[in-house]
Amino acid sequence: MNVLLVEDEVSLANEISVFLRKEQFLVDLAYTGAIASEKIAINLYDFILLDLGLPDYEGLDLLSEAREAGSEAAIIILTARGDVIDKVKGLDLGADDYLAKPFSLHELHARINAVARRKFGLKSNILSFGEFTMDLLQKKVLHQSATVELTKRQFDLLYYLIINKNRALSRMQLYEHIWGNSLDEEYDSNFIDVHIKNLRKKLSAYAPVDWLETVRGIGYRICID
Ligand code: CA
Repeated sequence: MNVLLVEDEVSLANEISVFLRKEQFLVDLAYTGAIASEKIAINLYDFILLDLGLPDYEGLDLLSEAREAGSEAAIIILTARGDVIDKVKGLDLGADDYLAKPFSLHELHARINAVARRKFGLKSNILSFGEFTMDLLQKKVLHQSATVELTKRQFDLLYYLIINKNRALSRMQLYEHIWGNSLDEEYDSNFIDVHIKNLRKKLSAYAPVDWLETVRGIGYRICID
């Protein structure tokens, strides 16, 4: 999951980003609203954690900008306790949740998971696809009771395709969500193909993976109910 953290308190921002990186999120940081605005215009994020109290920008404006630009990111606003009006306005403008400061990092993590489940229509932490299941808490893929050994990137790639099931995703989209910004000089479209090939190979040792489709001219799609 690709997260943009918008927070002007540098020490708090660093604390949150260290924590989220440990929890396997990709974290991009913006200490100012202006930088956040640029990043939102260029990159696709799964999550935006948005501090509303920014010195250079009205946090709520960033929120409406993101939605007007068509960002589908889940947005969690971070507000000072008691800012009820901002909270309500934020939700009206399309935020998915809010968290009052100060909050614990574990609470933040639980909130992110809850919002992700809601946003992607997941009813539990166990997802089924074909003959496989994915345990989101243990970060494991199982075929019956056998664990399919996947690398972290393969797991992330599969997870991202599953939560976007029945939707074709371009190689660029997959790259951005799993490896970070597409403006990376290292970006090479073959990169994703190689990872998909390895993923198919590992899964097909257990059962057919015809639900993982190549979409000509676009990229990949997982077709499941
Ligand atoms: Ca602030």
